[in-house]
Amino acid sequence: MTRPVPVLFLDVDGPLLPFGGARPAPSSADADNPLLPRLDAGLGPRLLSLGCDLVWATTWQDEANEVVAPRLGLPALPVVRWPEDPDGTGPPGTPRGLHWKTPALAAWAGDRPFLWVDDEIGPVDRLWVEGVHPAPALLHRVDPRRGLTGGDLAVLAAFVGGLGAA
Ligand SMILES: [Mg+2]
Repeated sequence: MTRPVPVLFLDVDGPLLPFGGARPAPSSADADNPLLPRLDAGLGPRLLSLGCDLVWATTWQDEANEVVAPRLGLPALPVVRWPEDPDGTGPPGTPRGLHWKTPALAAWAGDRPFLWVDDEIGPVDRLWVEGVHPAPALLHRVDPRRGLTGGDLAVLAAFVGGLGAA
């Protein structure tokens, strides 16, 4: 039996576009978003090498494929669509403190293992996923001031490696 390939959900603002630190001078091509020069082109190959199915989990939606993916050397990736949630409280029974993305990501993953990289993950998200998701899941919070680091990537790789050994 082949093991399911884990899904890796990627947030953009924070993990891939850090907010802090020195701001590189934008080129004219990046005039629409002065943060874009902060994208680290080296991250694309390192994310691909994790051996996961990469999926955008960001409010950038389709613009992640148009703007971010080419700058990271990533192919066009599937995009999670977010549920309409006019009052921001989530579906009935949603616990306080649960991130609005969390139920949609667990639903997308189905019964596959998943990893989620985001700067807004909290303890309620981890507890909720542990309770509902039938496969291993790693909710990894990234410091938005620094963005995704080599240390973060090592944590992701170790989790994926652990799945292979299970
Ligand atoms: Mg974010």
